[in-house]
Amino acid sequence: MKTLNDFNFDKKKALIRVDFNVPLSDSFEVTDATRIVSAKPTIIKILEDGGSCILMSHLGRPKGVQDEFSLRHIISKVEDVLGVEVKFVEHCIGAEAEAAAENLNPGEILLLENLRFHDEEKQGDLAFAEALSKLGDIYVNDAFGTAHRAHASTTIIAQFFPEYKCFGHLLAQEIESIKKVMETGEKPVLAVLGGAKVSSKITIIENILDKVDHLIVGGGMTFTFIKAQGGQIGASICEDDKIELALEIIKQAKAKNVQIHLPIDVIAANAFSNDADTQIVDVDKIPNGWQGLDVGPKSKENFHNVVMQCKTILWNGPLGVFEMENFANGTIALGNSIAEATANGAFSLVGGGDSVAAVKQFGFENKVSYVSTGGGAMLESLEGKTLPGIAAILE
Ligand code: AMP
Repeated sequence: MKTLNDFNFDKKKALIRVDFNVPLSDSFEVTDATRIVSAKPTIIKILEDGGSCILMSHLGRPKGVQDEFSLRHIISKVEDVLGVEVKFVEHCIGAEAEAAAENLNPGEILLLENLRFHDEEKQGDLAFAEALSKLGDIYVNDAFGTAHRAHASTTIIAQFFPEYKCFGHLLAQEIESIKKVMETGEKPVLAVLGGAKVSSKITIIENILDKVDHLIVGGGMTFTFIKAQGGQIGASICEDDKIELALEIIKQAKAKNVQIHLPIDVIAANAFSNDADTQIVDVDKIPNGWQGLDVGPKSKENFHNVVMQCKTILWNGPLGVFEMENFANGTIALGNSIAEATANGAFSLVGGGDSVAAVKQFGFENKVSYVSTGGGAMLESLEGKTLPGIAAILE
C-alpha cells in the first residue's frame, strides 16, 4: 500500500483528489470546514517536502457550470485552515489549468474549479481523466468520501500514474481503521448497529458476523428482530418482509458464535413526536398504538457492560430517534460507554451517516479512536466491498 511516506515531493507537483464538498450558507460561507481540516496533514507534508499541491474536488451536485457550486467560494476558508495563500483557476482541465499548474512553484497551492462542472467526471471518462492527469507528477488520493465511486478523478485517473500514485494521510488512516476492526482488531470485537431499517444494514450484518464476537442491535431495526421472535411491538417501525431474514441472522449468529444483544426495554411513545407521552416498557410487550423510539434503562446498562468487555468497537447507527431530545438518551449513553472503553484502551471506530452526526452533536468526537469521514464509502467498506478509488491505487 503506497502512502505519502513512500515519496519525496521535492520539486514535484502533487495532483491531489481531496473531498472539499463542504456545506455552504446562503451567503456562500463554509459552515463546516471539517473536510478541509482533514486534508491538511497531506497538503502540509507535501509542501514541507518542497513540493507544490494542485487540489481537485467536487462541490455539491451542479448541472453543468453553476456559479453557486464554484470552488471559488471556499478559497478564503482553505487559506485560513492551511495558513497558505491559495491560487485558483476557473477550469480543471485545458490550457489555462495546465498553464496555472506549470507556473506553480514549490510551496504553492493551486485549487481547480469544481470537477463536476464536467459530466465526464461522474461518467468516469477516460479522456477527461487523462486531461486532469497532465497537471501533476504524482497522483494522491485523499478523498475517502468519494472512494466508492469510479469517477474520473477518484479512480480512472490512477492509470496515468502507474508508478507515481499513493494514498494521502486521511485515506490511509481510513483504510487502517477499517482494517483494525475487520481484520486485525484485538478481541473481543463488538459491532453496534443502529439506525432505522434492517434492509439498509443487512449486507453489513452478513459481512461482519464473520468478524465480530458481539453484535448490539438497536434503533428501529430492533423491532423486526423482536417481532420475528414473537414479541409485541405495538406501532414500532418494522419491516414485515424482513422477518424471515431476521430469524436467519439470529441462526447464523448462533452458528458463528456471535452473541447478539437486543434491547431489553424501550422508551415507548404514543406518537412519533418529541412531545408525545412516554413510558418505559419491555421491548416485547409494547402496547398497541405505542412505538419504541429509544432504548430503556435496563438496555443501557446491559449495552454498557458489553461495551466495557470489548477491545475493538465499531459503531454505526443511532440507538433511537436521537434527533428528538427525549429519545436521544440511549445514543448518548452508548457514546459515553464507548468513550469510557476507549479511555481504557479499546479501539473504537464510528462510521457511516447518522452515527457520525450523533457523535459530533453530543461531543464524543475526540473521545473515540476514529470518526470516519465517508458515509457511503464507509458503509460499502463494512459490507466487505473493495472500493474502486482504493483498488485503483493498489493496482
Ligand atoms: P440510518 O440512516 O439507517 O442509520 O438510520 C438513522 C435513523 O434511524 C435516524 O434518523 C433515527 O431517527 C432513526 N431511528 C433510530 N431509532 C428509531 C426508532 N426506534 N424508530 C424509528 N426510527 C428510528
